[in-house]
Amino acid sequence: MMGQMMQMPLMISSLLVHAARHHGDAEIVSKRVEGDIHRYTYRDAELRARKVAQALGRLGCEPGDRVGTLAWNGYRHFEIYYGTSGSGLVCHTINPRLFPEQIAWIINDAEDRVLCFDLTFLPLVEKLAPHLRSVQHFVLMTDRAHMPASSSLDLECYDELVEAESGEYRWPEFDENSASSICYTSGTTGNPKGAVYSHRSTILHAYASALPDAMDCSAKDVILPVVPMFHVNAWGLPYSGALVGAKLVFPGPHLDGKSLYELFESEKVTFSAGVPTVWLGLITYMKQNGLKFSTFRRTVIGGSACPPAMMRTLEDEFNVEVIHAWGMTELSPLGTLSKLKAKHRDLPVEQQRHILEKQGKVIYGIDMKIVDDAGRELPWDGKASGNLVVRGPWVIERYFKRDESPLLDGWFPTGDVATIDADAYMQITDRSKDVIKSGGEWISSIDLENIAMSHPAVHEAAAIACKHPKWDERPLLVVVRKPGQSLTREEMLAYYEGKIAKWQIPDDVVFVDEIPHTATGKIQKLKLREEFAHHVLP
Ligand code: ADP
Repeated sequence: MMGQMMQMPLMISSLLVHAARHHGDAEIVSKRVEGDIHRYTYRDAELRARKVAQALGRLGCEPGDRVGTLAWNGYRHFEIYYGTSGSGLVCHTINPRLFPEQIAWIINDAEDRVLCFDLTFLPLVEKLAPHLRSVQHFVLMTDRAHMPASSSLDLECYDELVEAESGEYRWPEFDENSASSICYTSGTTGNPKGAVYSHRSTILHAYASALPDAMDCSAKDVILPVVPMFHVNAWGLPYSGALVGAKLVFPGPHLDGKSLYELFESEKVTFSAGVPTVWLGLITYMKQNGLKFSTFRRTVIGGSACPPAMMRTLEDEFNVEVIHAWGMTELSPLGTLSKLKAKHRDLPVEQQRHILEKQGKVIYGIDMKIVDDAGRELPWDGKASGNLVVRGPWVIERYFKRDESPLLDGWFPTGDVATIDADAYMQITDRSKDVIKSGGEWISSIDLENIAMSHPAVHEAAAIACKHPKWDERPLLVVVRKPGQSLTREEMLAYYEGKIAKWQIPDDVVFVDEIPHTATGKIQKLKLREEFAHHVLP
């Protein structure tokens, strides 16, 4: 016997239609590239998204066509998210911080037909254009007044295209498994690979990520995604925000401590999300100026391991709850988040913190296990570490245009090494590429970094493997000191005593002015390893 419920495909457009109908006056506030603040509502955004769909249709786009974006977090980008996916096109968000050659490669691989970009990226696009094989329309995401007097490109003005349309457009219904958007992994080795999401996977991910044990989003929230809309769809917040009808605040290109702090305060932000490095800048600015938050109470931190010292600073000094999360482009991106269970409620705070420092529990929908190199499952005892594999309806089955399946027995190998404890909390030990292999034993670079980061004079730290004649590899610690601090190599090494087994203590420390970051704000271990390939350990 079949169930007798309505058949309604899970369509991304339905998120915005819902927000417009039921939270119509909730605001979407954007700090624009043009410099001012723009505000409108979900009702306005939904109408504009319909116009975007009409405008792209007029430019000749057909279902399945890819529309590329090179843009900051802002309302126009938000409209494009919905105008593309909602009308059956595929929204391809591109990370502008990648190397230009990589960006061109990605646009050609995705075969973007239209490229929409913020004013910031006009010089970049002008440079790339001769190498782009598929792009037929270059749309500058601004109004007529800000269009440049001249350009080597035949530019179209976004606001003019949108405003020329009537908005008399019905969102189509089609197969929920149709492609909705595409994100490329940053490809630290080899060419980037595309993860193609569907309407169904995006909606399920939005539902799950809004749950209390995940991001805990609600209509009471004012959400400011610091994580860029080009970094795995701002971790789904443009979708889950609409799903719950939360006010959204988009920071545009201004991600420095001062700009963020001012926007958090003026818009009464309650919730945010971003990689650890952005919080470094914000914390430094707030400490220097003796500032506190008035409404900001919780944030998701993920994308790379959040140092416990950062969690403590945010909690103790700024009253902000940190939700540590783990995910990947291939997982849309959310996999696990760290939240307590009922049985932990009466534990001493220190023990609770210890649990919350882990990357956390899966959200329903995702399953995970750790396996050894032969694929045998390892115990959940919090000690055995193995290759983390996952599966679920928002995990990729294959990469765009690649025939070979990345799956192993139906599970996606994440490339991360992790432990899982008896309460099902996962903790990342390392990326398998970053583990330091010393005499057959593994040393977690994350552990070494977390300890260094808890030293009051350390601004940022990275632990990398350095070649060693006897042990094969030994850890080298690269440190950026806080301004005005005079930490020595000996003091740094002494700080490890008693915190970690003696043989795991780094062999050497080098101080640098800056640690290189990837296009998504993570420490660029590969580059550091190259830079210090010939470092002679004492
Ligand atoms: P990109 O480098 O393009 O941002 P991803 O976002 O897909 O690519 O990176 C996913 C990887 O980031 C994971 O496989 C893992 O190694 C790392 N990562 C993400 N979140 C965490 C976390 N909370 N702790 C440790 N590593 C993390």
